[in-house]
Amino acid sequence: MLIQLTYASRTSPNIGPADIKDILQSSQRNNGILGVTGALCLANGIFLQQLEGDRQAVNQVYHRLLRDSRHTDPAILDFGEISCRRFGAWNMGLISAVPDNRQLFLKYSNTAHFDPYLMSVPTLRAFFDEVIQSVRWLS
Ligand code: FAD
Repeated sequence: MLIQLTYASRTSPNIGPADIKDILQSSQRNNGILGVTGALCLANGIFLQQLEGDRQAVNQVYHRLLRDSRHTDPAILDFGEISCRRFGAWNMGLISAVPDNRQLFLKYSNTAHFDPYLMSVPTLRAFFDEVIQSVRWLS
């Protein structure tokens, strides 16, 4: 059964570009093996990640990353069955707040700063729909 899980977490204080590179590299390697796809956004000191794939595989990835000291305050924001993948080509793409993406982050924010903890499920889904269409990816 294919599922999708979306969660947010806060970056730990000492996190740097090398950590982000590490996270992406291990995500791409491990997710590729497990058949998990998705996207990781980083803006305003908050990670927002959408994972999709087999239910057991997504659970395995999620439980592993919960133990990671590079982030805190994880919260599941959306979870459910899907009929097909949306990030089929991405083991894990990174979307960060580069100037090209800033307007997109702001478009779906209740406040002046991107805060996925405050976003409703329909808003989160609309955000990821637009990400797939138009974002400038970094990886
Ligand atoms: P390696 O790739 O060998 O480790 C890579 C590096 O990360 C090493 O330098 C190691 O020191 C460091 N590291 C490993 N684990 C930790 C830890 N728990 N705390 C601090 N440093 C550590 N992993 C995935 O597989 N898929 C994902 O989709 C995914 N998404 C993530 C999203 C976020 C926001 C964060 C913070 C982490 C994510 N990770 C993801 C990383 C995950 O938490 C593990 O670090 C990773 O899966 C370990 O991979 P590995 O066993 O191959 O270790």
